[in-house]
Amino acid sequence: MHPIQIKTVPCLQDNYAFVIFNQANGRAAVVDVPEAAPIIAVLDELDAQLDAVFLTHHHWDHVDGLSALKDRYGFENAPEGAAVFEVIGAKADQHRLPPLTHAVSEGDTIMLADMPFQILEVSGHTVGHIAAYSEDVQAVFTADSLMAMGCGRLFEGTPDQMWASLLKLRSLPDHTTVYSGHEYMGGNMAFAKSLGEDNAVLAKREEEVKMLRLGSRPTVPSSLGLEKATNPFLRADDPSLQAALGMTGADPAEVFAAIRKRKDDF
Ligand code: ZN
Ligand code: FE
Repeated sequence: MHPIQIKTVPCLQDNYAFVIFNQANGRAAVVDVPEAAPIIAVLDELDAQLDAVFLTHHHWDHVDGLSALKDRYGFENAPEGAAVFEVIGAKADQHRLPPLTHAVSEGDTIMLADMPFQILEVSGHTVGHIAAYSEDVQAVFTADSLMAMGCGRLFEGTPDQMWASLLKLRSLPDHTTVYSGHEYMGGNMAFAKSLGEDNAVLAKREEEVKMLRLGSRPTVPSSLGLEKATNPFLRADDPSLQAALGMTGADPAEVFAAIRKRKDDF
């Protein structure tokens, strides 16, 4: 068993940051920084030593809390001996991300809380969006690429790009836990149901989601196996969904584009 514990940290209106905590040595990493205060509260509670911040993409609601985190944990003006953490982000997006100490690309390996994570390039929502995957921890941090029952809006990339990114994520093992960047389940579930498919797994997930939401609990993270079975954006090549959309036999990338368009107009 690995010593990793991952805390989901609600931030701002509907964002999620994550604290990856290594119980063996007290070291921690943070994934995205929508705002600093809730993240600092979790790090303090764990009495963690912050080693690294991993930034998935350049949008303000994923990076804006970084400077306050730097103030708190010591950075350029850190007194001697104070903790200084790595800031890891996409090399391709360096020009529009906060200053990075470590710029990475697809295939690179980074250490988060002393565990190796692999960088996946998952453009679509933005061009330059990255994800971090660990086979050991069985976790992938996807932010606004693959989301619980959804995927990020295509602000910069094309449907083809996002579909390729989703296929990359879909190739990971079913038992992988998916940590995405927002609580969008309400809209995503309503949209998935609106597609008119008879999907027993989806119906079961809807019940589970209702229970979570009743207790105001996050629907993030989720499992990749469950996403594969219920997330319409991962299922553009599924005959059952294609039939429901009247697109039987169509090119999956085209079906994905059609689903994404329908969600934009939903
Ligand atoms: Zn975003
Ligand atoms: Fe976002």
